[in-house]
Amino acid sequence: MVVFCCERGVRVKIAIIGAGISAAAATKLLIAQGQSVSVFEKSRGPGGRMSSKRASAGSFDFGAQYFTARTGGFQQQVQQWQQQGLVQVWPVVPYSFSQSILSPSADDEIRYIGTSTMHQMLAAEFTGATLHFDCKINELSFVCSNVSSQSRGQWQLCSEQGECFGGFDLLLLTCPPEQARQLLQGAALSLQIPEQALLPCWAVLLELSTPTHHPAQAIFVQQGKSRWIAKQSAKPGRHHARLQENLNEAPEQWLVHLSPEVSAVELETMPEQISAMAALELSQVLGTEVKVAAALCHRWLYASYNSELPPCGVLFDHKLQLALCGDWTLGGRVENAWLSGVQAAQQLLQQQL
Ligand SMILES: Cc1cc2nc3c(=O)[nH]c(=O)nc-3n(C[C@H](O)[C@H](O)[C@H](O)COP(=O)(O)OP(=O)(O)OC[C@H]3O[C@@H](n4cnc5c(N)ncnc54)[C@H](O)[C@@H]3O)c2cc1C
Repeated sequence: MVVFCCERGVRVKIAIIGAGISAAAATKLLIAQGQSVSVFEKSRGPGGRMSSKRASAGSFDFGAQYFTARTGGFQQQVQQWQQQGLVQVWPVVPYSFSQSILSPSADDEIRYIGTSTMHQMLAAEFTGATLHFDCKINELSFVCSNVSSQSRGQWQLCSEQGECFGGFDLLLLTCPPEQARQLLQGAALSLQIPEQALLPCWAVLLELSTPTHHPAQAIFVQQGKSRWIAKQSAKPGRHHARLQENLNEAPEQWLVHLSPEVSAVELETMPEQISAMAALELSQVLGTEVKVAAALCHRWLYASYNSELPPCGVLFDHKLQLALCGDWTLGGRVENAWLSGVQAAQQLLQQQL
């Protein structure tokens, strides 16, 4: 294996672990700069915590609900996605549930969603990279050559299935901090990874047998066991084509996110009990007893950022040709995840030039 560098106009081999939005941002930039990128993702496709899931009536957003664009770079990116028809504004008036009162609580925030799924725009961002899905990396090694003091080491990645991939000049980890720490056991950089930076969340989709016809579509819940409730069936573009034509026939579907505190306590609780808890929450917030026809639960061990922690920033170990990024390095949320991927890619390129 020959290690090339950019000065000689030859490509550097980069491995990226994870295929969420931070990895997408980094991949796009590195490919645009002519680098060779291989992406390793344990799930079946790209998306990470932005993934939408298939349900009987269409798809539902069980992770990120929407995203905002407050910085110039990300605004430009979102504009491009909008022009390509991959992203749209969600023109929702949020409600607030506090002191047992549910009321509209309009704000100036512009909320974006993927046109039919939250992660729809990500696939194209990985164009040009070699993609390995269903590939959970569980062992990393950094192999140093002792031929000359000038020569650099290279990374080797091995998957849970026992397959090994070698010869990478640079490694970028984009997985949640707990998973990054496990992979980097023994490396000095692992000591800089914050503890409990991402908090858990139970996400529950409730399909109702009788519609509530409640006008609220997105509710910030300030009390009780949930923190967010959304009428998924009213979100643009989420229905199967057959239902899209006659939305009145579509069953009403609500998504409930339990709070981080409750989710942490109930991590091992059976999904049936979790969906009953979510149904009770929905009834209390809407002020009417809901009748559930079907429920779907998803447990996120690492969901959203613990805002009590100061962000640690994108992490680098120049000697090991290693970087760590992801939403948790810059304070959580989709936009920060994207920004962290851009920052990590820029710094890795600088190191090589
Ligand atoms: C319930 C919930 C609600 C949210 N709501 C919002 C919201 O409304 N607005 C907002 O802006 N943000 C929201 N977020 C946060 C947002 O989803 C994240 O900030 C963003 O998606 C993180 O992207 P990322 O690339 O940093 O990480 P991730 O999306 O987590 O990507 C990391 C990837 O690494 C993969 N991986 C992990 N370990 C390995 C391994 N060993 N080998 C291979 N692959 C591995 C994972 O499968 C994953 O695909 C929410 C998140 C959740 C879970």
